[in-house]
Amino acid sequence: MAVKVISDQCIGCSACVGACPFGAIIMENDKAIITEACTACGACVDVCPVGAILREVEEKTVAVDKNLYKGVWVYIEQVNGHIRNVSHELLGEGRKLADAMGQELAAVLIGQDVASLTKDVFASGADKIYLVEGTEFKHYSTDGYTITMTDLINTYRPSVILMGATNDGRDLGPRVACRVGTGLTADCTNLGIDEATGLVAWTRPAFGGNIMATILCPDHRPQMGTIRPKVFKRPEQDFSHTGEIIKVASKVKPEDIRTELIEVIQACTASCNLEEAEIIVSGGRGMCKPENFTLIEELANVLGGAVGASRAAVDAGWIPALNQVGQTGKTVGPKVYFACGISGAIQHLAGMSSSDIVIAINKDADAPIFKMADYGIVGDVLEVIPALIAEFKKLKAAN
Ligand code: FAD
Ligand code: SF4
Ligand code: SF4
Repeated sequence: MAVKVISDQCIGCSACVGACPFGAIIMENDKAIITEACTACGACVDVCPVGAILREVEEKTVAVDKNLYKGVWVYIEQVNGHIRNVSHELLGEGRKLADAMGQELAAVLIGQDVASLTKDVFASGADKIYLVEGTEFKHYSTDGYTITMTDLINTYRPSVILMGATNDGRDLGPRVACRVGTGLTADCTNLGIDEATGLVAWTRPAFGGNIMATILCPDHRPQMGTIRPKVFKRPEQDFSHTGEIIKVASKVKPEDIRTELIEVIQACTASCNLEEAEIIVSGGRGMCKPENFTLIEELANVLGGAVGASRAAVDAGWIPALNQVGQTGKTVGPKVYFACGISGAIQHLAGMSSSDIVIAINKDADAPIFKMADYGIVGDVLEVIPALIAEFKKLKAAN
């Protein structure tokens, strides 16, 4: 797609300059010029009063025979023999997509001695598992896992692949997509089927979270995306459900893996394991200064929960980025979420709105967080949190 100005028709009104969100149009000698910053978004086309801006659609050559690609796959992420929750969540959602498409749901399980996990994968809904085992898969490696996923895709040709938007998924997904010549929608917050085309509709925040964009992959296969943990509920497991296991031999040679794992350092303790936490106590700029975050930690401690934060608190250096909740932080879905001194900006809500119960503490009764909170306390966090800690301590002592 390219956008160009028909110079002879341009009357030099400059209307297009202000309409371009990327500052890609300049005026020279009373004529509009489109510069290299143009992303071909098309926003300028309709504002031109004389139709001097044209959007040219290039002829596409479709390289793949889409009919050869069938089935929905979920990449199973496991660490030290434990399947991450997000993989179960994606099996639940993958099941719905596969049923809607009238296709099967398969899982890809790569690791060392991971065959015992297949029961767990079938119980979450998979019809089939591609199992690749080997000592080279003891720990995740970009090279080893990319080679293996790429080989599986080229051999078995799935139509759709879902991966968790975790550190590993964000590393593996785009790399594999590039190798197999398809696109990838990163960090999705919803999935569906586009009624008109039958394609997977991948939804994710765009333009700083102010709009939700729904993206289709019409020309290439597989359709790929990474999906944030906790945006879907983990399915009820049925351990009587079973399926076919296809064992695939690893094609990874030792020299293919260019990195060596020297040491695993546990940087995240239970208090920052937000994605798995059932209770989260989060603090924002309203905590006023870094020392006051000890109140957040204390309340989280009493409740056996994890500590979260808004980006404002992270940017101020009060707490590490690992604890950030929101669009550019973690997506969480605890049973109870305490928002302490957090205003409720859309980018924060993007990360915690699937919490079962939200309790907001804010001194401003008009703070946007109260619009979505189940319980609201209007007051100073420095008074309310110590009172809550004292009450919860009393309750714990009484039990
Ligand atoms: P503020 O908006 O400043 O709110 C502080 C609140 O504390 C106010 O409501 C105030 O009334 C209250 N308060 C003050 N003092 C007290 C007191 N003593 N007692 C009780 N209440 C008090 N933000 C995120 O959180 N996560 C993200 O992932 C994220 N990603 C972003 C991505 C982009 C592209 C952009 C543009 C922004 C992003 N943001 C994100 C930032 C977001 O827009 C907000 O700026 C941020 O969430 C505000 O943090 P806050 O609520 O802590 O601070
Ligand atoms: Fe700007 Fe979009 Fe027009 Fe390109 S197509 S000049 S980016 S408004
Ligand atoms: Fe020229 Fe149209 Fe831009 Fe006006 S809006 S400067 S006529 S291209």
